[in-house]
Amino acid sequence: MERSTIVRVHEGLHARPATRFVKLAKAFESDVELVKDGKAVSAKSSVKLMLLAVKENQEVTVRANGADAIEAIEALIGYLENPKAGLDDGEAHAPANDAGKEAAPESQSAPAAPAEANGLRGVAASEGVAIGPAFAHFPPDIAGQGRMLQADEIAGEIDRFRAAVAAVQARMDRALAQDSLSAGDRGIVAALRDIAADDSLTGEAEKAIKGGNDAVSAMITAASTIAADFSAVDDHYLNARADDVHAVGRQICLVLLGQDDVSLENISQGAILIADDIGAWDLARAPLKRIGGVVCGHGGATSHIAIIARSHGIPAVLGLGDRINALRTAQEVALDGNTGQVIIDPDAATCADFAGRVEAAAKERAGLAAFKTVTPKLADGKVIEVAANIGSLEEIEAAQEAGAMGVGLFRTELLFMRHMHLPSEDMQAETYAALAKAFAPYPVIVRTLDIGGDKPIAGIEFPEEENPFLGWRGIRMCLDRPDIFKRQLRALLRAAVHGNIKVMLPMVSDLGEVRQTRVLVDECAAELQAGGVPHATFDLGVMIETPAAVLIAPALAKEVAFFSIGTNDLTQYIMAADRLNPTVAKLNDVTNPAVMSAIELTARAGVAAGIMVGMCGEAAGRPDLIPAFLEMGLTELSMSPASIQRAKKTIMAMAAGE
Ligand code: PEP
Ligand code: MG
Repeated sequence: MERSTIVRVHEGLHARPATRFVKLAKAFESDVELVKDGKAVSAKSSVKLMLLAVKENQEVTVRANGADAIEAIEALIGYLENPKAGLDDGEAHAPANDAGKEAAPESQSAPAAPAEANGLRGVAASEGVAIGPAFAHFPPDIAGQGRMLQADEIAGEIDRFRAAVAAVQARMDRALAQDSLSAGDRGIVAALRDIAADDSLTGEAEKAIKGGNDAVSAMITAASTIAADFSAVDDHYLNARADDVHAVGRQICLVLLGQDDVSLENISQGAILIADDIGAWDLARAPLKRIGGVVCGHGGATSHIAIIARSHGIPAVLGLGDRINALRTAQEVALDGNTGQVIIDPDAATCADFAGRVEAAAKERAGLAAFKTVTPKLADGKVIEVAANIGSLEEIEAAQEAGAMGVGLFRTELLFMRHMHLPSEDMQAETYAALAKAFAPYPVIVRTLDIGGDKPIAGIEFPEEENPFLGWRGIRMCLDRPDIFKRQLRALLRAAVHGNIKVMLPMVSDLGEVRQTRVLVDECAAELQAGGVPHATFDLGVMIETPAAVLIAPALAKEVAFFSIGTNDLTQYIMAADRLNPTVAKLNDVTNPAVMSAIELTARAGVAAGIMVGMCGEAAGRPDLIPAFLEMGLTELSMSPASIQRAKKTIMAMAAGE
């Protein structure tokens, strides 16, 4: 018997909802299949189910055959029609590998540039300088025995294989039982465990063993076959599951071979970790306190590796691509996480230079620690808020440790890029509420989605554009997609109940954009009111990052609660110099008089209207520029957590007339 329905499971049957669906199906004796577009797969295999790529709002049929077919269909249809199915814990949202890897922009501030004479240049992903012995982490490829088994060896080989699978599952269960595992890491391990437990992968391998292959060869072949299926699906989240399948296959092979993967446990104090790619899970459980720096072939400024490195204060240069191979045999490595420079086996002069910089940085850090709890004030008593720029909840701790007086820029892009589908209103509300609670009573300024065709995300179709930086991005895209925008605005209204949430719009170039947003905010508030959902109002501000916004700043100031100057984009648009193009890097200079006068015009308009003027571009953390910005009338500066104490010190020195 069979029954059809429209799938309402939020985000469809991706990893966790698929696994839960399978668990439910397995509770019934009947054979159960799920059918989509004429293709039927067993509902008892999560890999097969994921490969069916069932999305929210698609029609599917549940087919069951057996003694309890009616009950099975009832239960499974009920599951498919429940939007919240599979979303009742922290694991549901975390993809199983480094999602930043496939979705992060190459860099938000420092582009990868060609090799230099004395080394390499990659993405400056976590600031600071480091020099130390190289710790190369390039796990070797695994190979099977390459001989066919005799018939009487097959049963034993299958037993050996099953024991290896059980050992890997048990290891993952142990990891999941650890309290120290963060919610994000837990999601990563849970998804890998699902794959390890799936009959598709192990069944495929057992078939190959029965055909005479040794277990390691069989596992490698099975993983490659299933990974190829994932790679072929037209969905970038599912494509990334191919890496998970390989990762699980590798773990099983290592147990079969009696080997351990090269462990990060042995990294020596201050060593520089060199890897082509390193899973966020591997890095998170590595002895982070001992790691002096990280250099990787993969990754960008917003990848999970970058986030972990930043939140632990580890300098990192990522995204070197194949050039990482030049570091495989390095003895010593120096890196500059501010510029993206990596030097292999530096000469004596470079060593001395880096050692001096590391020492100076350590001394500076120690001296700056006293400013953590300082509330900086100008000579007239005016408090200057020194806040943090962050992009994920994982960075809260680093911001608090630094003494951030709230968040001046929460980039919401990562939230959208990390997942296979657009994040739900509930999930967004939880995230923004967690931020509001963490920093209350200080404000948390959440920037609405600032994304365009240069960093596409699953769930939004971007047109091909000649100039994505001048195209359908930020507030422009959001206003054209009220379904996405209103979900975010509703989540923000809900989160505002929990603290001091403010909201700002990116890429504003026209008054109408603010007015249209207000209409949507009012609509959202009315919807929440009608549904009896607790919510509160928030201050609405704009980023000033286009020349148009500067020129209409006096009019804008009458309609918004605050300005936040985005010097990264403002500089590129004022100077007509692409911020990612190293060839025009010289023009991309915030100190150019054209940019400084745009900042001053903005400040003047904001001060005249009596609204707060802040800055959240990189320039906000520059001690050489802070006095000029404060003289212009800025009262809030938001920056990466690592710059906060230095900025507070600069303000205090200015107030003291130094
Ligand atoms: C800016 O443009 O200055 C800014 C802070 O935004 P982003 O760097 O995210 O574009
Ligand atoms: Mg910007």
